[in-house]
Amino acid sequence: MATIFSKIIAGEIPSYKVAENDKFYAFLDINPLAKGHTLVVPKQEVDYIFDLSDEDLGEMHVFAKHVALAIQKAFPCRKVGEAVIGLEVPHAHIHLIPMQKESDMLFSNPKLKLQPEDFEAIAKAIRENL
Ligand code: 5GP
Repeated sequence: MATIFSKIIAGEIPSYKVAENDKFYAFLDINPLAKGHTLVVPKQEVDYIFDLSDEDLGEMHVFAKHVALAIQKAFPCRKVGEAVIGLEVPHAHIHLIPMQKESDMLFSNPKLKLQPEDFEAIAKAIRENL
């Protein structure tokens, strides 16, 4: 059965798309820790990120780098943090999270409550900086 992220990539479930190429897809996390919190996923349906080939893992990080630089331009921050958890959705993904301080990366922090128009504006701002 397709994962929820495969359904998002296929357009069967809506998402706030940030970037896409033939192998990877980036979209806003629906429960963001910060404005600009983005997920980068491979189109290949692999659960554990370290089961990706060396080549795909490398390409995924280069793709994530371009997205991270655009996030930082759209939402100025000290750095964009990268995290891999993957315990909720069994489809490999990188979290990119704008941070001012270390604790901004804590997944136990309260999530932002944003409206659809907020998500639209955030995704647009990142896309415009790619
Ligand atoms: P993890 O698997 O890394 O522990 O967490 C999965 C992440 O995916 C969570 O941050 C959660 O908010 C996000 N997520 C889960 N389902 C959806 C969804 O349907 N759409 C989007 N945009 N994000 C999702």
